[in-house]
Amino acid sequence: MKLSLVVPCYNEAGNVAAFRDAVLDAFHNCGYNYEIVFVDDGSRDATLHNLKKLREEKKCPVKIVSFSRNFGKESAIYAGLERAEGEYISLIDADLQQRPEIVRDMVQILDDEPEFDVVAAYQDRRSEGKVLSFFKRSFYNLINKLSKVRLQSDASDFRTFRRSVAENIVQLGEYHRFSKGIFAWVGYETKFIPYTACERHSGSTKWNFWKLFNYAVEGIIGYSTAPLRFSIYVGGLTAVSAALYLIWVICEKLFLGIDIPGYATIIVLILLLGSIQLFCIGIIGEYVGRTFEQSKKRPIYIAKEDLGIEE
Ligand code: UDP
Ligand code: MG
Repeated sequence: MKLSLVVPCYNEAGNVAAFRDAVLDAFHNCGYNYEIVFVDDGSRDATLHNLKKLREEKKCPVKIVSFSRNFGKESAIYAGLERAEGEYISLIDADLQQRPEIVRDMVQILDDEPEFDVVAAYQDRRSEGKVLSFFKRSFYNLINKLSKVRLQSDASDFRTFRRSVAENIVQLGEYHRFSKGIFAWVGYETKFIPYTACERHSGSTKWNFWKLFNYAVEGIIGYSTAPLRFSIYVGGLTAVSAALYLIWVICEKLFLGIDIPGYATIIVLILLLGSIQLFCIGIIGEYVGRTFEQSKKRPIYIAKEDLGIEE
């Protein structure tokens, strides 16, 4: 088997057949064997039913893993990588925003350029609003400053690995999976190629601003302990300010003869220090929470059905 296409699907009933057909088109007479590994991430529509039909049609080898509930795209990628048997392994979305033809180009690059182990696609033209793209840029700037891993801005999960890279990714059994960070962390020479995302074939995106924001926080907490250091700095800063203020109050009393400073100052300081403390406890809590979740050693997903290629 030369190539495995790992395809996470969450409520993609309207897309999976079109996706399979696009793959057949893109890879007909490519001259090598390939398989599609569909991961049904606990879809609540007819995705699984439609996937089973595709598998029975046997137009190309299809594997299906179906989760017991929605575990998220990151878990779906993990399950797909575990089952992929190809020498090259591609991650691609089921909604046809990422064209299978590009995967064929990626395979060509890996064949022709042995110095690269990964080919990753990044979006060259984005159709999103200014506000969102501002936030995305700020996120990449921030995480690249805070963390030891380097994330390529705009690089998507749309990529093709050599088998050894995928095997290393599967070795990382962390519960909170932030793929962009994981891909950067395992290293290897990566070639970035531009692509233009197409419109979704059917259905709608599962992302909104709030989810993206939480995803960004996930990335920062997961790949850096800088926020913890930040709370030490804030603590140090307020301690120094408090000491200076104390000296000032004593001087006022001794040299200017002003007694007891205002009530407002006290209230403001109590609120300010209280909120700084809560903020820092929150930061620590994020890390403690992650340690807690990881210490439970739960599996990354639960597969309800696991169907290999139909003979
Ligand atoms: N997806 C998934 N589990 C989820 C959310 C999404 O497997 O919980 C899959 C989805 O079916 C699609 C891919 O991840 O194949 C990308 O999702 P989406 O198109 O919503 O994201 P976008 O392209 O808007 O970034
Ligand atoms: Mg999409």
